[in-house]
Amino acid sequence: MTIERTLSIIKPNAVEDGHIGDIMACFEREGLKIAAIRLTQLSKEKAEGFYIEHKERPFFGSLVNFMTSSPVVLMVLEGKDAVNRNRKIMGATNPAEAEEGSLRKLYARSLEANAVHGSDSLQSAEREISYFFEKGDIYS
Ligand code: ADP
Ligand code: MG
Repeated sequence: MTIERTLSIIKPNAVEDGHIGDIMACFEREGLKIAAIRLTQLSKEKAEGFYIEHKERPFFGSLVNFMTSSPVVLMVLEGKDAVNRNRKIMGATNPAEAEEGSLRKLYARSLEANAVHGSDSLQSAEREISYFFEKGDIYS
């Protein structure tokens, strides 16, 4: 299996609830290396651009409000099969359906405030990583 990079975001609810360390520890324990990291509060424009694929969905406005409500942690994770493994570690989008022990099961407050984001394909990962990080800020 090839080494991949994927974008992970620790969302505002999990930062507010003090779970940055727990979530980073989980990725490291699973063998996903943190190759870049930044704590930042997203602007409305930046959050809208990030979630552009969802702009026609009824929850878009609320999602953007939530994602800009307080700081997030942006990370590039690197490792074998990183895109799919991160999605597995995160659990299902709806925490009510997320597997026991998954990050969303452990740390989500709701379907919207579901603790973490992870790229859903290699193609999205490339777009999402370059949306937030310069090449020179990513360390293998
Ligand atoms: P994922 O984050 O698992 O890739 P999606 O890309 O479908 O899920 O949705 C992006 C984000 O939008 C979700 O993580 C969640 O925060 C929010 N979201 C998705 N569906 C809903 C919904 N029906 N109601 C409210 N928020 C939602
Ligand atoms: Mg998605």
